[in-house]
Amino acid sequence: MRSDDTILELRNIRKSYTLRRWPAPAETLRAVDGVSLSVRRGETLGVVGESGCGKSTVGQIASLMLPATAGSLTFKGVTLPAGRVTNRGRLRTQIQYVFQDPYSSLNPRFTIGRLLEDPLAIQRAGGRRERRQQVELMLERIGLDPSFAKRYPHELSGGQRQRIGIARALMLEPEFLVLDEPVSALDVSVQAQILNLLKELQQELALTYLFISHDLNVVHYVSDRVAVMYLGRIVELADVHALYAEPLHPYTQALVASIPAEPGSGPREAPVVEGELPDARRLPEGCAFRTRCPYAHERCGRTPELIEIRPGRQVACHLWTAFQ
Ligand code: SF4
Repeated sequence: MRSDDTILELRNIRKSYTLRRWPAPAETLRAVDGVSLSVRRGETLGVVGESGCGKSTVGQIASLMLPATAGSLTFKGVTLPAGRVTNRGRLRTQIQYVFQDPYSSLNPRFTIGRLLEDPLAIQRAGGRRERRQQVELMLERIGLDPSFAKRYPHELSGGQRQRIGIARALMLEPEFLVLDEPVSALDVSVQAQILNLLKELQQELALTYLFISHDLNVVHYVSDRVAVMYLGRIVELADVHALYAEPLHPYTQALVASIPAEPGSGPREAPVVEGELPDARRLPEGCAFRTRCPYAHERCGRTPELIEIRPGRQVACHLWTAFQ
């Protein structure tokens, strides 16, 4: 159930890395460069962008797996400053992360039953018999027979493994899941099954999702709102229908235009985006998109702020801010 309550808020999150390759001078890589966003209880906020745009880093910071260099995170009214986000404390059980490749996060030597029971055992939740009952119930909930508890990860298909990855994240009854490219390694038919499972679980368990993907069709299917990232910044944030029907930022326009048109409907009209993604160690001054933007202008040497140009519609581009 979507609501207007904010469950998670990121404020001016930055994440940078210092790269040292002796004898070259040290360089700074800005993976995330001032991201602020709010996630409403019960919604799916999609985060989309090219590889290297910082979306997974934002997901890891939002799930308290990675400390930010600066900024703060507020979850259900509890604020953690940037450097303390790995000190998860009471929030440990309430925010969980689902990986793109569940196989790498599942110990191949353990049975599925043990892998699902472990989070409960670590938290000392219930006795052994109770925990095993919870494992069986969870297997049924994610569409697998309880007998799967006796199997090992290598005996499962890709889709079944991702169901286990999701089940593992749910064992501690979290309220918030960060889903990082959860279907990108799966066949299209299996993708649809997993996306539908995620939607059902969201309804049944009142979950909130931060859904990270490079696939615009997938993001369109699952999201209520979408944040578009480019080189560490959010360039547009809007309701999913508004964003796909009328993308405003030139980068969003190019992304939406890159979605294959329906057969027989002819090519889409869109601005041409040329050139490669700039090196994150040497970002252009001002708007980071200016090296590829067909509308780049002198004023784009100043960094555009992400501002609300209509209710619920935020854009970081001087084409729009000029009219405010
Ligand atoms: Fe293009 Fe300028 Fe807008 Fe950046 S600020 S997207 S360069 S028009």
